[in-house]
Amino acid sequence: MKVLIVGGGGREHALAWKCARSLRVSQVFVAPGNAGTALEPNVKNVDIAADDLDGLLDFANAEAIDLSIIGPEGPLVAGIVDKFAAAGRRCFGPTRAAARLEGSKAFTKDFLRRHGIPTAAYRVFDRDSFDAEQIRSQKLPIVVKADGLAAGKGVLVCDSHEAAIIAATGMLDGAFGTAGHRVVIEEFLSGEEISFIVMAHDQQVLPLATSQDHKRRDDGDCGPNTGGMGAYSPAPLVDADLHARIMREVIAPTLRGLRADGNPYTGFLYAGLMVAADGTPNVLEFNCRFGDPETQPIMMRLQSDLTVLCEAALDGTLDRARADWDERAALGVVMAAGGYPGAYHSGDPISGLDVAARLPGKVFHAGTRAEASRIVTSGGRVLCAVGLGDSVSLAQRQAYDLVHAIHWNLVQYRRDIGHLAIARERR
Ligand code: AMP
Repeated sequence: MKVLIVGGGGREHALAWKCARSLRVSQVFVAPGNAGTALEPNVKNVDIAADDLDGLLDFANAEAIDLSIIGPEGPLVAGIVDKFAAAGRRCFGPTRAAARLEGSKAFTKDFLRRHGIPTAAYRVFDRDSFDAEQIRSQKLPIVVKADGLAAGKGVLVCDSHEAAIIAATGMLDGAFGTAGHRVVIEEFLSGEEISFIVMAHDQQVLPLATSQDHKRRDDGDCGPNTGGMGAYSPAPLVDADLHARIMREVIAPTLRGLRADGNPYTGFLYAGLMVAADGTPNVLEFNCRFGDPETQPIMMRLQSDLTVLCEAALDGTLDRARADWDERAALGVVMAAGGYPGAYHSGDPISGLDVAARLPGKVFHAGTRAEASRIVTSGGRVLCAVGLGDSVSLAQRQAYDLVHAIHWNLVQYRRDIGHLAIARERR
């Protein structure tokens, strides 16, 4: 079979790598891919942007693609699944209506409240309804969120009322383009954050291995929020009881609610959860796709054929499917361009990829491109180095051995990915 992966980041490299290892797959295409996917056996890059829905459908028709898997949220929110389905092309992901769960935070908060799913208290404002006094009456810290898609950067945790008011008015004035035309002001939740990702088809669910990511740029989970600086799987916090609770209190009512609202969901569904001290799994956000960088460690552990699982979902037999996992832990460290998540430099030659390729583990590319005979940086998050090990500490060691082999001008990465899990291992 022929598979098309849409997107060009680390998540798509991991999905393409995984699909290309399947014996049923003759060819994987990635649109547009990156320098890493270009080098992967059985994988070809196609020069079509992830948001060029017409171009992607023309390509899928011309190549008779059997299965398309959509990486980023942009094309899903724009309706790529509806478009492919109308043309009779199998495409794993939610419809445009179901993808609103990620496309609008205000929509999602209303959805959560309506369906009784645990989440932080909130208010939604637009320019007309904005009320600084309301914000002054909130307990600190205050979380300010742009309503729409802002590449993981539209969330600010503010320690003073003035900072929250400035953040909110900045968003309403266009700091995040149209994404900030509405803002969500949210109660700050404490606890430990986990990523809970499932494959879903209407009410059928296959939970994937648990994971945890690090959203802050700097060691100790400090500094600005990013798209994600590293992740590991499994998340030791999620024992059988918490797993059952998340399935019962979050995943099942979400899929029931989507169906009740007339938008049954097919695809990867990612719940970003803040687990409170009493175990309450509060929903921070939903993503309508696999996480980046969670995909990289999770794909390293998945032993089942991903294409079989996607097809089971599309065939309505997901309830009979099972996913087998490598018992070992996997941990990925994101290597980013200096300056990220702010303005960053591009075009720096990357050295040491050949050395890393001979070490255990796997380096997934994200913001990279080939230039003459070199590979250079071309994005904020550039690489994700993933190690495997019998414990999170051992996986971490393998991942950092890869990181230490690679270099470019002003490279930055965190030195403590997995610290919470490792502290737990040492207890
Ligand atoms: P979101 O895009 O809504 O997941 O927010 C990005 C990040 O901001 C989350 O991963 C959390 O680390 C943090 N965050 C968001 N909402 C809250 C909240 N209500 N309380 C504490 N931290 C939050």
